[in-house]
Amino acid sequence: MERPEIKARYDHFIGGKFVAPAGGEYFDNISPIDGKPFSQAARGNKEDIDRALDAAHEAFKTWSKTSPTERSRVLNKIADIMEANLEMLARVETIDNGKALRETRAADLPLCIDHFRYFASVIRADESTISEHDEHTVSIALKEPLGVVGQIIPWNFPLLMATWKIAPALAAGCTTVVKPAEQTPTSIMVLMELIADVLPPGVINVVTGFGPEAGKPLANSPRVAKVSFTGETTTGRLIMQYASENLVPVTMELGGKSPNIFMKSIADEDDAFFDKCIEGAVMFALNQGEVCTCPSRILVHEDIYDKFMERVVERTKAIKMGHPLAEDTMMGAQASNDQYEKILSYLDIGRQEGAEVLCGGGPMNLNSGLETGYYIQPTIFKGHNKMRIFQEEIFGPVTSVTTFKTVEEAIEIANDTMYGLGAGLWSRDAHELYTVPRAIKAGRVWVNNYHAYPAHAPFGGYKKSGFGRENHLMMLDHYRATKNMLISYSKDKLGFF
Ligand code: NAD
Repeated sequence: MERPEIKARYDHFIGGKFVAPAGGEYFDNISPIDGKPFSQAARGNKEDIDRALDAAHEAFKTWSKTSPTERSRVLNKIADIMEANLEMLARVETIDNGKALRETRAADLPLCIDHFRYFASVIRADESTISEHDEHTVSIALKEPLGVVGQIIPWNFPLLMATWKIAPALAAGCTTVVKPAEQTPTSIMVLMELIADVLPPGVINVVTGFGPEAGKPLANSPRVAKVSFTGETTTGRLIMQYASENLVPVTMELGGKSPNIFMKSIADEDDAFFDKCIEGAVMFALNQGEVCTCPSRILVHEDIYDKFMERVVERTKAIKMGHPLAEDTMMGAQASNDQYEKILSYLDIGRQEGAEVLCGGGPMNLNSGLETGYYIQPTIFKGHNKMRIFQEEIFGPVTSVTTFKTVEEAIEIANDTMYGLGAGLWSRDAHELYTVPRAIKAGRVWVNNYHAYPAHAPFGGYKKSGFGRENHLMMLDHYRATKNMLISYSKDKLGFF
């Protein structure tokens, strides 16, 4: 298993240079693969954030004035560099986060690359609106970049979540200070090394460190024009409080407890479609379940429960776990020891609540040096929607199944949660295929598929899963303000005084 070269220590990336932390401190980055440190990251504090904001403000003076063509060129160049280094970056991401290489190689990195290209394209197609107020008066609505933005990233898709924020911000003409998650600070620094020369200094600045020490001074700084946050709902609440001091807009991409609904009609069809539905239920194990839209609740029509779940359990048991860098590994390690312990505690909670374990239910004991890594068996519980395992975000390879009798009951259970991020619907009934997604209170409903994230499809939450969106060209407007110029060409007097 080829391992990429990773430096023993990374500094912050500020003003186009790698800069030692103001406090002189570093912290260990632990690889979930074996629970051992593999690199160190700079421990950022308010002074580092202030230096990064200085650099970003300086860069904003010129970057905000660059033409869309120039911004597009830089974004495309970043995409090209990522593509040329895809294999290496995929391996670093796997070592940093613990997820299987087959996912970082086939999903995370290609999605990042496509995202940069998408925003490189749409910024050139964007148009201002001109309208005529009357014969002599024209209204021009111009879009201007908001300014320097603060972007705070979680650990579950370290490069992809950073890309979702950086690409539209840069396309819109903003400059950014990025704070990666402390659990996964390395892959983004490897990316910064690769792209340092193509970026004007200060356009992207990355300060690593812990939430209260480095995230808070970014989120409450009066020098950011917007805070974009992805992470837990409880942290999101804090970030909003910080940002409210300065009255700046926030984007909140928070947690979820997504229902995956399997209607009776799926069993009427040919076996190929039924088989696709089986895989659709097993998608809870993608990225070790550490996905905000993890389909962590399976709702299945009671008439097809036995036939359906027998095969879902069989397919789940066939998931190959192993070294995340091995080619045939389908599921790797949980991203941190804290997350590992949290998931195990939920497995206990599920049992204590009386849920039945259909498969999995504990740690996965792997040998060959992986004994100290954070591996958990993909687990399916059977229970009911009032249980904590149905209501609380576990953020692991755990799903809980319950049954319903009618479409109305399925919708009621699906919506009986504080979250509203993702949902899945599997059906062959044309009426259900339209009406059920409309009735579900979630920002993304996958119909007869799951876990696809194209750059041009808007993504984000309802309810306590957040607000604002990511992906889609509408993101440009999340990073811009509208300037209206109302121009009169008439010599007539205004007529008031
Ligand atoms: P988290 O909230 O613990 O941390 C996210 C980021 O916030 C990290 O960079 C962290 O250092 C920082 N942070 C923590 N406390 C802070 C504070 N007081 N001030 C400023 N910054 C602070 O979340 P996580 O555990 O890294 O990520 C998992 C969560 O993210 C899950 O709830 C998941 O559902 C959610 N998520 C949502 C989406 C989405 O698009 N909706 C996508 C991915 C993950």
